[in-house]
Parts: sequence; C-alpha cells; structure tokens
Amino acid sequence: MERILKTLFNLNRNGFDAYLVENIEEAKTLFIDKILDTNKHLTASYADSMTMKTCGVLEYLRGLESVNVIETFSADYTQEEKIAKRREALLSDIFLTGSNAVTMNGEILNLDMIGNRVAAITFGPKEVVLFIGVNKIVDNLESAKQRIKEIAAPENAIRHTKFKTPCQGAGICLDCDSVDRICNVWTLHEKCFPKGRIKVILINQKLGL
Ligand code: SF4
Repeated sequence: MERILKTLFNLNRNGFDAYLVENIEEAKTLFIDKILDTNKHLTASYADSMTMKTCGVLEYLRGLESVNVIETFSADYTQEEKIAKRREALLSDIFLTGSNAVTMNGEILNLDMIGNRVAAITFGPKEVVLFIGVNKIVDNLESAKQRIKEIAAPENAIRHTKFKTPCQGAGICLDCDSVDRICNVWTLHEKCFPKGRIKVILINQKLGL
C-alpha cells in the first residue's frame, strides 16, 4: 500500500488530478460523480485500453443523449475512416484511455503503435482520464521501460492477432522491424500542464497489460 500511496502523492505533486479507488466499480462511480460534467463534456472519445473498457464507462457515455461519443474502433470502418475518426477524437472534450506504466515518482510512460493514444494524452482533448491498475506501478523510469518492453508490448501484440510480429510466437520482444510492429512512439509525462488536465484513476486491482 505504501507504494500506491507514494505514487498517488507524487502524481498529484506533478500536477495530475490523481485518485485512488479499490475496484473497477468505484472507478466508474468516481468518473461519473466527480469527473464527468455533461454541461461541458459534449464530445467524448477514447483509445484502446483494456482497463478503461473493463470499467464500463464507455457504455455509460454511449447511453447519454447529451454526450456525442466519437467512435474510433468500429469494425464497420475502413482503415481510412478509423484514422479520420481518431483525428476527430483529438478535439474531443474528454478523452478516456489507460497507460502502460506509472512510476512511484509520479511519471507516466506509454508506448504506441500509431500514436493516437499518446497524442491525445499529450495535446488536443480538453481533458484526459487515465484508468490504471496498480500492477502498472513501477519503481522508476528504467523499470517502466523494462515493464513495457518485457510485458505490455509482447502481450499486446499477442492480443492483436491481426498483426504479425515475431513476439507473438516467441512471447518476448525481439525488437523487430516488422511492418506490423506495435512499438513505435514513446511518450513520457513527467508533469501535467495545464495542471489537472490529465486525471488519473489508480485502481487497486491487477488490470490490463
Ligand atoms: S518491437 Fe516488435 S517484437 Fe518487440 S514487442 Fe514490439 S512488435 Fe513485438
């Protein structure tokens, strides 16, 4: 628990609005009661995150008449349409996703294939909400990078069966040159500017990759 509380403290010290909840149900409640403001969040969008999807917040938003959810992953879209929607998502009022690692010093590290997730976290949407399980907490940036390359990236590649990468068979990262390589863009958020634009919901469960 000490690691979690230290991470929470340092995230807030670094300008993120960070919260700690016990489980995914509490994460959803916190999002609805304390973060979502349907007077100003008229458009919402998201990037791939198993943790965020598990919390059920997308279904909740889709059920609201007052919020237009910009869908970015519909199977009905062509690749061109998906990219167009992901560009549109960068101007949403509120953007939901997750992260690959958070350090006890309150830094957030991510690795993307295309970059639509890390772009949105960095700039564009007025507010961003990151749903992060405590299994993503690591000691420092070195261990954050190690966690992503050894766990998150190969397991994500295995999850996306349409991509053909060598880690899918090997189970470990081989630093490939594949055209399907999912590891292309790193971002490090040391602090949040403007203060509070990025909300972090730390969930005291093992969630996501
Ligand atoms: S760099 Fe290539 S081999 Fe390594 S995890 Fe990413 S996709 Fe897999």
